Amino acid sequence: MSILVVGSVALDTVETPFGQAKEALGGAAVYFSYAASFFNPVRLVGVIGDDFPDEHLELLKGRDIDLSGLERAKGATFRWKGRYDYDLNEAHTLDTQLNVFETFAPKIPESFRDSEFVFLANIQPRLQLQVAQQVSAPRIIACDTMNFWIEGAYDQLRETLKKVDILVINDAEARELAREPSMVKAARQILKWGPSTLVVKRGEYGVLMFTDHSVFSAPAYPLEDVYDPTGAGDTFAGGFMGYLSTVEDINDASIRQAIVFGSTLASFNVEDFSLGRMKTLEMQDILDRFAEFKLLSHFEEVEA
Ligand code: AMP
Repeated sequence: MSILVVGSVALDTVETPFGQAKEALGGAAVYFSYAASFFNPVRLVGVIGDDFPDEHLELLKGRDIDLSGLERAKGATFRWKGRYDYDLNEAHTLDTQLNVFETFAPKIPESFRDSEFVFLANIQPRLQLQVAQQVSAPRIIACDTMNFWIEGAYDQLRETLKKVDILVINDAEARELAREPSMVKAARQILKWGPSTLVVKRGEYGVLMFTDHSVFSAPAYPLEDVYDPTGAGDTFAGGFMGYLSTVEDINDASIRQAIVFGSTLASFNVEDFSLGRMKTLEMQDILDRFAEFKLLSHFEEVEA
């Protein structure tokens, strides 16, 4: 099964109360690809500048991530600088330098057009739509976005959503998109606009999933130490889509499993800066923590 991701490839500088990372490998497409590559090969479409270190490319290639859609443009790579205070759920953006990302127009290589699982990471909604239109027979198109586009490109985003099966966003974004403070009402509204599934990321409080007939709630893994939440959302999406790409039947049950795999991968990612923890991760670690998730929210029925 083929997984395609389109999104940012970045050099991130991040400060948290526990330390900092300077110009470390990051970007939505990178976190997504690395996580998804535990399940199936990934095809990445993005752009880097001429200053992007080769060692990062080697790391991705070593994970069966096809970089033939990664354009190298003249100029500097996209850079993001952020800080987290003790509330690790909230990133404070200190600086965004779009550089070569500013004029990024995703070109999907011919050999990527048959991709069945497509993740449109957080980029301009018009570009997301162009990507969705370039794939020939997708089984699932999932999409992320951010407040910047909800506020600045609302109509375009609504157009893009018509092509999206699963929208994966955080809770503040869901409320802002639907212009509705109640999450349940916001979900009902968003599900009328295209996606058949809405996945709401709630940081350390876990994930809620809404369809037109069900609601599912998964906890986040209660970690003792969270060093750097950067990329948690994209790592979640990678684990989520990665697992879905392995199942025959995409239904309520497999989407729930995918949510727990996404949460599992995200819980590892936040244990270190950049992809530090992901680099040492083995499939068995993922399966062990997946099993712990089951215990975490299991309870017995009571006799009526
Ligand atoms: P997350 O923590 O999952 O929301 O994603 C963090 C990643 O998104 C970082 O590695 C950043 O490089 C990347 N990022 C930050 N701002 C933007 C932006 N405006 N567009 C695309 N990617 C971004």
